[in-house]
Amino acid sequence: MSLVTLKNISKIYPSKQGSVYAVEDVNLEIQAGEFYSLLGSSGSGKTTILRVIGGFEIPEQGRVFLGEEDVTQQPPYQRNVHTVFQKYALFPHMTVTENIAYPLTVAGVIQGEIDQRVTEAIETFRLQGLADRQPSQLSGGQQQRVALARALIDRPKVLLLDEPLSALDAKIRQEVRQELRELQKLTSITFIYVTHDQEEALALSDRIAVMHDGKVEQIGTPSDIYNQPASLFVAKFIGKANLLTGKIINSRTVDINGYVLDIPELSVNLGDLDSLDNSDNNLPNSEQQIAKEQIARKSQNPSDQVTVMIRPERLQINPRTLRDQEITGKIVNCTYIGQTREYQVQTSMGLLIITKLATGTDYAIDSIVEISWSTEDCVVLFN
Ligand code: ADP
Ligand code: MG
Repeated sequence: MSLVTLKNISKIYPSKQGSVYAVEDVNLEIQAGEFYSLLGSSGSGKTTILRVIGGFEIPEQGRVFLGEEDVTQQPPYQRNVHTVFQKYALFPHMTVTENIAYPLTVAGVIQGEIDQRVTEAIETFRLQGLADRQPSQLSGGQQQRVALARALIDRPKVLLLDEPLSALDAKIRQEVRQELRELQKLTSITFIYVTHDQEEALALSDRIAVMHDGKVEQIGTPSDIYNQPASLFVAKFIGKANLLTGKIINSRTVDINGYVLDIPELSVNLGDLDSLDNSDNNLPNSEQQIAKEQIARKSQNPSDQVTVMIRPERLQINPRTLRDQEITGKIVNCTYIGQTREYQVQTSMGLLIITKLATGTDYAIDSIVEISWSTEDCVVLFN
């Protein structure tokens, strides 16, 4: 039983051309205690989904459940859900203590209990010594911690966070990111976190829903999404990837510029749509729908075009023991990126990007190398 459930949610706005779907037929099942991210570029519908969960928007289609209760028509204050916005929206004329205490004060909690809980929060959020300051006397990171303390003081079931780190500069963002994760683990409150930053989503989340044009492209753990992207869009959006375009030869091989590339079995279904119905599996509805769409897309004919993805770190250069597949190439470029080197290697399949730890062997430009990989490292993608 999930804590937050979205069933077939669509939110439609009027526009000059008629109407536009901000989100279209979105299904999500978010478990209690999860750190769940909505990841997507600007305009993909992330904020709209948060506003629907928070009760700030009523969807034209679909239902929202908190536990078993249908809250679709409930106003925000009746839902046990709080929101932390991009701009922290602290009360400028109130001190840190007064800001944090505010939800309890409004709820009429007795002063003794307010004092105790605010003192605890000031400790948890490392705001000691700042209690009497006003927001303008705090750094961005400190203001964000006050906003979080205020949002969590009355222990909501769900905290919605809309790009909460985007106003912070890179170094502080890293620190606060770590704190957020720890805080979420400590409180076990369900976090639904919106970001356009794939690195942030991968680092923080238990699960991620990748959004594109108002629809969910894929739902999975960070490792699922990185290693088994469900579509070309996800593969391009998350991390670096070698994307090789070729033609299907049969269900186990693809022709890339004349090179016969082995692909994992069952990556391609030739014809036969009848055998594709997987309605008997145990996936939740939200994922079942996506899985069905993926399987339908895999139904191809020989000589149809596909893209094969291989992550740059999966390719080996001059390995001691060759894997199942290999190709000869020439190093044409090398860039240092912190702890790794990124090589560009020209091969008959095309230009490959390969990342290696900078502590390993350094290959000179123009040297001829053997590149090797396992069939399992290839992911076949359809549009
Ligand atoms: P994101 O948070 O991923 O950037 P949004 O949920 O804010 O995306 O917006 C999704 C789409 O809906 C965008 O195309 C946006 O222009 C549109 N949209 C959002 N809010 C409104 C609104 N109040 N009126 C009209 N269109 C809107
Ligand atoms: Mg937004």
